[in-house]
Parts: sequence; C-alpha cells; structure tokens
Amino acid sequence: MPSPNPLKAVRGTRDLLPPETALWNHIEQTARAVFARYGFGEIRTPIFEATELFARGVGEETDIVSKEMYTWEDRARAQSEKPQSLTLRPENTAGVVRAYIEHKLGETGQLQKLFYIGPQFRRERPQRGRYRQFWQIGVEVLGPPSSGSESPLRDAELLEMVATLLDELGVRNWQLQVNSVGSSEDRKRYDAVLRQALAGVKDRMCPDNQRRAETNPLRVLDSKEPADQALIDALPKIADSLGEDSRAHFAAVLAALDACGVRYTINPRLVRGLDYYTRTTFEFTIPDGSGLGTQNALLGGGRYDGLSEMLGGPRAPGIGFAIGEDRLVLTLQAQAEQAVNSADAQIQKLDAYIAPMGVERNAAALALARELRRAGLSVEIGDGSFRLKKSFEAADRVARHIVILGEDEVATSTATLKAFATGEQIKIPQADLVQLLRH
Ligand code: AMP
Repeated sequence: MPSPNPLKAVRGTRDLLPPETALWNHIEQTARAVFARYGFGEIRTPIFEATELFARGVGEETDIVSKEMYTWEDRARAQSEKPQSLTLRPENTAGVVRAYIEHKLGETGQLQKLFYIGPQFRRERPQRGRYRQFWQIGVEVLGPPSSGSESPLRDAELLEMVATLLDELGVRNWQLQVNSVGSSEDRKRYDAVLRQALAGVKDRMCPDNQRRAETNPLRVLDSKEPADQALIDALPKIADSLGEDSRAHFAAVLAALDACGVRYTINPRLVRGLDYYTRTTFEFTIPDGSGLGTQNALLGGGRYDGLSEMLGGPRAPGIGFAIGEDRLVLTLQAQAEQAVNSADAQIQKLDAYIAPMGVERNAAALALARELRRAGLSVEIGDGSFRLKKSFEAADRVARHIVILGEDEVATSTATLKAFATGEQIKIPQADLVQLLRH
C-alpha cells in the first residue's frame, strides 16, 4: 500500500520552532515589561466572536469584513441554543471594546489601559510578512470622557510608548507616520468632498476603486493599485475638511510629540483600513531593505471615539494600536546587529551537560539532573551509550560545562567537571556542583 502524503500546515499558517521562539518570547517579555511601566494590565478575550461584532465594529465595506474573515455557521447543540454566525477574530480592538461594554468597565470612571498578545486570522494572500494566522501585540486606552480618554496627551503618550518599546527591542530606522481622519462629522463632510472629486476621475481607476468610490470613498485612499496612485494623490486632502476641534486636537498631539522628542511625518493619505477610526491615525513603518519587503507596516492604530456606541455601549473614546509580531520578528532578524542582541537569550547555553559513562550510569545521571534543575540550573543529559568524544562534542554545542559521571564518580558521589570557557577540569563532590555551575 503506498504511504499517504504527510500532512502540512494549512496555507498561510506556520509553525514557530525553537530557537526562533526564543526571539518571540524575548519580544513579548520586553513588551510586557514596557507596558507595566506605563500602567497597563493584560486582557484576554476569546479567539472567536459573533460575526456581527466585526461587521458593526470594523465595517462591512472593509477588505477584512468583506473578504478576509473566517466565518462559519455554528450549529445549535440543544433546543435552548440557536445557530449562530461566528468568526475567528481578524483583529482585537472590537473584542476588547465588547468586553469593556459587557463588564461595564466604564462605570469605574477610570481610564482603562489594556494590552493583549495573541493570534488573529485573515484570509489574505500569503506572502512574506503576511499570513492567515498572525500575531498581534496590541494596546487599548479607553474610558468615559471624564477619565481624560479624549485628551491628545493620551495619543502622544501611546506613541511615545511605542517608540520606547521599539527602541528597547533594538529596532532601527523606524518611521512614525501620523494623520488625522477627524470626527465622524468631519468625515461626513470629507466623504461628500471626496465623492464629488471622485465622480470626475473614478472611471479611470481600477474596478475595486470604482466600487469603493461608490460604497466607501475613504477606502480609495488606502489603495495600493499602482496605476491609480497619481489620481489618488491629486484628490482633496482630509486635513482641509477637518473642523476646528479636530484641528486643535491634532495640533496638540503633534506638539506633545515634539515636546518629548518623538519624530514623525504627516501622511495625509493615512486613513487605515478599518472604519472605526476617528481623529489620530498612525503607522510605524520600516524602510525598504529591512526584511519586510512590501509589507513594511510594523504596526498601526488610531483613535476610535465612536466605536463603543457603534457596538451599543456608552460613550467611551479610546485609542490603540496593534503591532504585527511576525513582522517585528522578521525585522529584528534582518537588522542583523540587533538580531544578535535580542537573540542573546536564544543562543544562551545551558549551565551543564551531564555525560554518563556507560548505560549503568543513566539513572544516576537523571537523579543528578533532577537535583541541579530543582536548584534552578539548566541541564541536558547525554546517554551512557555515547563515547567520551561524542559526549564532549555534544556538550560543547549546547552547554557551558560538561559533568562526567563515571563508575568511580557515582560510587563516591563526585563528578568530573570541565568548564569549556577555561578548559579547566576538576573532580569535585556532587554537593559542590550547584555552587560551581552558577558561575
Ligand atoms: P491592522 O489590524 O490591519 O491595523 O494591522 C496592524 C498590524 O498587524 C499591521 O501593521 C501588521 O504589522 C500586522 N498585520 C496585519 N495583517 C497581517 C497579516 N495578514 N500577517 C501578518 N501581520 C499582519
């Protein structure tokens, strides 16, 4: 009988393996440490939600909702249940705001500062830096207006925190692009201006943009269609449609960024692909040649002052961002020098490799390994069937020391210890090992 083809991970998904996972952990630990310094707490929301949450929150006309979601009709299992349309979360802001409403977090009167780390799912065309299951590290700051949630200071503080995190991770050459998409009233005004301008030129655009020009003109500004770029650049800018309040808010964000020395450029086309954004929008990008290719947006975010109400909740202005962790890993790996720094943890060697001499010593080796590991040391065990030369080679690859357990050592509760850094070899009581291996 022919053997069946081995199964593979589904297109657009991938396995993360050691040693690369050490870099992922390093990134997550650094993010957690930075977020703690800024007073954030972790939130974990479900990986699937009611489809309606994303339809209402992210917007029906967005690429995400119209073609990228993993949605299924979930069968009822009992008379008391109804079948329901469910979706693997394509992003986490809608879920966090749903949780904010559900748990009445606004009633505390406090500003909520939340972060999450977890997988998101979008049926995109897979390429380097773009996957169907990808990881985001995200942050949301929201609360009733009385908690200061609308203050431009919040926007600037959030951006400053991202800059600090990227610097601490050793990401080089990041660029911050900012824009304001205004309040929902400003956007209505701009929508009218844009529709009018598009009416004259849309026939010369690609079919996708022709459709967007009708259904959601703002989305035309996101378009990457090369042939349409000149036409899009010539469209009226949203900045000219902003009301006094939005202008003042944006100016205050920029002034606060200037005051703390965070560099940025204003990108008038940065409207981002999700409908819930209001006022400040931003992206951190990495210039070409840093491992991301065309997927050069490391993270993106913005304000969503009306999202809670769109989801049936109280007024709760907020701002957040999501870092693409997959892209952060690619960037750090490509920026070689930093990758070495960040990967210190990755290539860190174990404290000891225990080499039993002869299979009769295997049990003693396991007992010693247990003792050392319980004392907090990292230990690998070889096998008694290995020759001494093979044990040394294996030990040198993974550990700073080799601990040799021969017949004599086991009989006298001693061990022969060699430090690879100095080449020094000594025979010592096993009781002294913990102390010596710590150095
Ligand atoms: P968004 O939720 O679309 O604002 O995306 C925020 C960040 O998530 C982006 O800047 C990317 O770094 C990352 N991201 C979005 N979609 C993907 C994807 N399909 N694969 C990998 N990373 C992604």
